[in-house]
Amino acid sequence: MSSYKFVNFLWDDAKAASLDPVGRLVYRSNLLGSDQRITNTGGGNTSAKLFEIDPLTGQKVEVLWVKGSGGDLRTSNRDNFSSLYQDKLIALQQVYAAKANKGLKSEAEDAMVAMYFHTTFNLNPRASSIDTPLHSFLPGKHVDHMHPNAIIAIAASKNCEKLTQEIFGGDMAYVGWMRPGFELGLAMQEVARKQPAVKAIMMGQHGFISWDDNEKVCYTRTLDLIEKAAAYIEQKYAAKGGDATAFGGQKYASLAPEARNAAFAAILPWLRGQVSQQKRFIGTVQDDEKILRFVNSKDAARLAELGTSCPDHFLRTKIKPLYIDWNPQSEDAATLKKKLAAGLEQYRKDYAAYYAACKRANSPAIRDANPTVVLIPGLGMIAWGKDKSESRVTAEFYNCAVEVMRGAEAIDTYIALPQQEAFDIEYWLLEEAKLQRMPAEKELARQTIIVVGAGSGIGKETAHRLVKEGAHIVCVDLNPAAAEATAKEIEAKYGVGIGVAGTGLSNCGPALGLAANITDRASIRAMLDKVALAYGGFDSICVTAGIFVPSDTSGHIPDDKWALTFNINVTGSYLVADEAFKTWKEQGLRGNLVLTTSANAAVAKKGSLAYDTSKAAANHLVRELSIELAPLVRVNGVAPATVVQGSAMFPRDRVIGSLAKYAIPYTDDEATDSLVTKLAQFYADRTLTKSPITPADQAEAYFLLVTKRLSKTTGQIVTVDGGLHEAFLR
Ligand SMILES: [Zn+2]
Repeated sequence: MSSYKFVNFLWDDAKAASLDPVGRLVYRSNLLGSDQRITNTGGGNTSAKLFEIDPLTGQKVEVLWVKGSGGDLRTSNRDNFSSLYQDKLIALQQVYAAKANKGLKSEAEDAMVAMYFHTTFNLNPRASSIDTPLHSFLPGKHVDHMHPNAIIAIAASKNCEKLTQEIFGGDMAYVGWMRPGFELGLAMQEVARKQPAVKAIMMGQHGFISWDDNEKVCYTRTLDLIEKAAAYIEQKYAAKGGDATAFGGQKYASLAPEARNAAFAAILPWLRGQVSQQKRFIGTVQDDEKILRFVNSKDAARLAELGTSCPDHFLRTKIKPLYIDWNPQSEDAATLKKKLAAGLEQYRKDYAAYYAACKRANSPAIRDANPTVVLIPGLGMIAWGKDKSESRVTAEFYNCAVEVMRGAEAIDTYIALPQQEAFDIEYWLLEEAKLQRMPAEKELARQTIIVVGAGSGIGKETAHRLVKEGAHIVCVDLNPAAAEATAKEIEAKYGVGIGVAGTGLSNCGPALGLAANITDRASIRAMLDKVALAYGGFDSICVTAGIFVPSDTSGHIPDDKWALTFNINVTGSYLVADEAFKTWKEQGLRGNLVLTTSANAAVAKKGSLAYDTSKAAANHLVRELSIELAPLVRVNGVAPATVVQGSAMFPRDRVIGSLAKYAIPYTDDEATDSLVTKLAQFYADRTLTKSPITPADQAEAYFLLVTKRLSKTTGQIVTVDGGLHEAFLR
């Protein structure tokens, strides 16, 4: 095809020529995966049959390089591909033929998956995909299996076979829905043998597969077929009336963007609490034009009930989404909440009924019965996942499902996979084994933690400490650039994950930088609402923001500085707690609040009257709040002492001032680092443990207090001061 309207043609001959054969397979895979219209995140696979030197014999052998289990085409590299002896894979057909009781979805068929390990070439540790036989048994040297919305729209149409013939003529054969596996590979092999001219197969309710002996032709064919499908659909869609009549036409109007944000922020923490009774979930909001057109439509309720079609989709979106028939024009937020509560109850009942009706003797136990996709007219979609990346994948897959339904309804009638087939995928023993093999979740997985003061010092260190344990971190600071910088550092280190979805703030990764002034209640509320939009709610808050205002030269502290000190060190923490508690109560999930006090709270000394007094008040604030917020939220304090390294409270001039005060020798041109080390060592020598106290030492205390390790501790102050006997609480 000379030009493409519905896919991106990205092949660069020079780039391809610079790569080795496996490199070209990775290149082709990345190009295909980069276009959401070609395949969804994690969906589809590619392969190449290449000649390699066998390390055992020194002879040339044919090796199938095929995208392995897990991973994603867009982001995959060489390590994501398994390499298998092609002749041994073909020989497995004899092994399978000799089995008794074989057939589609039989135990004998599933047992073949373990056999692929025996065909591993060159000790490649990547586990092979369930789709391996499709790639091995088809004749092309290069094979692409994709999940494009346009093709799935045809695959999920009532008259798929007829439409395939009509749209592609003899270029695309057809295989009705079969669960992926050995039998599907054999069926495709049969099609290719009987119709040698055909180089593509429509896979009913699933996607398609195409091949060629030349890799660029293979890539181009994949694009051509998707382009053809999309062009056909769009022509029919336009002829039917286009967007105006999509999904039966509009029933409700969207709320204005600000009203949507306000409504989402109000409902999300509560909804998160409702769906997180067994395990906590992280949310993603989608309210772009496409999803709004669907949720606002006349047919949304009917289509949503049918559920998603492509197996890749419904593994994340569940058998169906929860659609709430709420009228955004005439009904209020309280009604929405009531309808959501009733909808959730019904959804769980439906899910239990689906499980009971479809389960087999050896099925795994029923899984969480809550919806992972919630659709609300006027507002949009909320998707849930175990972390931000997975919740974006869930949202992406329902976006795909909406596109599939739009296409299918434009050319025919959309049909979902029969419930039993969907169940047999969802509760497939191989799928269960995959879940069981997953590494244990990290200690703070499924949680969002707000760190106030994350732009520098202890706050920044705490943000890094907590994300390491799997938490999502909202980095909050008075200085927006500093908050943003810490969030960027985290993202650079951990990546943003894979799902491609989420509107506005909700498109974020594992960390988000937000500005807030903790002395201003409205600013705190605005920040908490943004956290709800980004992640659906939050679990814990660490407040590390604080201020030290030195006395003037006469040793006196001006009234405004006194007020500022109390405003930030005491009132700020109180306002954060008081505003956050409203959200915590809505959410109904246990959380933690950790405030920052100081060793100075217990030690009276000269020169820091306002600071020390404010920290003594903060100590008591911890105790009062622990009573007010119990039992939902544990409230504890960390009392650091003299953390000089990395602290915003110790700029160069304060360090010099302190060195002078304690008569420690230094020179004016000495590097700041060196001055800081001297002062830190001086302070260390005053402690029982004689070691400088670092922000990392403090971060460890915040970490312990937000985990379950100290789950029976509330109203307490944990000192991290190296051991200052003057500061011992009595
Ligand atoms: Zn597939």
